[in-house]
Amino acid sequence: MKVTEHLARAKGKTLFSFEVLPPRKGETIQNLFNNIEPLLEFKPPFIDVTYHREEFVLRERPGGGFTRRAVRKRPGTVAICAAIKNRFDVDTVPHLICGGFSREETENALIDLHFLGIDNVLALRGDPVKTEPHFQPHPEGHAYADGLIAQIAALNAGRYHDHDENFQPEGTDAWASDFCIGTAGYPEKHFEAPNHGSDMRYLKRKIDAGADYIVTQMFFDNEEFFKFEKRCREAGITVPIIPGLKPLTTKSQLTTLPRSFYLSIPEALAEAVSQCRDNESARAIGIEWCLNQSRELMAHGVPCLHYYSMGKAESIRRIAKELF
Ligand code: FAD
Repeated sequence: MKVTEHLARAKGKTLFSFEVLPPRKGETIQNLFNNIEPLLEFKPPFIDVTYHREEFVLRERPGGGFTRRAVRKRPGTVAICAAIKNRFDVDTVPHLICGGFSREETENALIDLHFLGIDNVLALRGDPVKTEPHFQPHPEGHAYADGLIAQIAALNAGRYHDHDENFQPEGTDAWASDFCIGTAGYPEKHFEAPNHGSDMRYLKRKIDAGADYIVTQMFFDNEEFFKFEKRCREAGITVPIIPGLKPLTTKSQLTTLPRSFYLSIPEALAEAVSQCRDNESARAIGIEWCLNQSRELMAHGVPCLHYYSMGKAESIRRIAKELF
């Protein structure tokens, strides 16, 4: 079922969902299932599975020197979505990115998803790989997420990327994908956007291209979300907006999260965590902060709270136990 159908069925009740990462290459899928199982009692209607591009690693050559090799450390997004759906009977949302994909490869991935009975896709551009100063699209792919969204919407309407007006499918069953398309929004603006206004114009473009709902980057100050939501509505965006949350779990995340996700951590939270003697007490503060954020967002009437697990379920389980 589509994410938007789940939201509509909830009739104003806030739903619980979360995001997982594919296991690292070499780990079993059971590791992932073990992280999902403790969260199922809170009835997530859908689970997101991230997509990870290749990274470049240096490998020693037998005769000396190094070669640069592209390695995907967390492959398997599509298969994992199907495995979660089959095993737990929960809808899944695979993340699909522009980076590294031609239009043809994107289409093939969408056909795989359709045949696997997956109804949702979160359409993203992806970040530059470490060796690129700026994001480089595939020569036959999309430079921005709006192009990917338009391709998915076109496929929903039965148009392949190399659409041939004269092609008639054999038999009576024509193509019938109907993906619900999610898109990313950034309460603190995307790091490449010169200002909020320009970021919002491009977000509106993604909605106009066919996105059905927005899920936000994590944030630690609800005021950022409320301002973002207001800017969206003023720009004429009417689709559901799902806030993304993450409880801080270690002291080092005070610096790693801002560096990786270009977000800010409010002074009160940063101060409290930096005074912790160990990660155990930092985690307790992170959970309490996230709980307060969640309660305020629920009271505000958000349709769903979406938690970033980053491979660890325990803090999210403790939060969900209080709220859902
Ligand atoms: P876009 O919407 O394309 O925007 C990128 C930048 O370009 C923005 O600054 C925007 O303002 C600008 N822009 C947009 N459209 C245009 C246009 N037509 N012309 C000119 N400028 C434009 N990354 C992964 O690799 N895998 C994941 O699984 C993943 N999951 C994510 C989940 C969520 C909820 C979020 C918020 C992010 C996720 N990301 C993931 C990271 C995401 O890929 C990066 O943040 C990326 O840099 C931007 O992706 P986007 O889809 O928002 O890009």
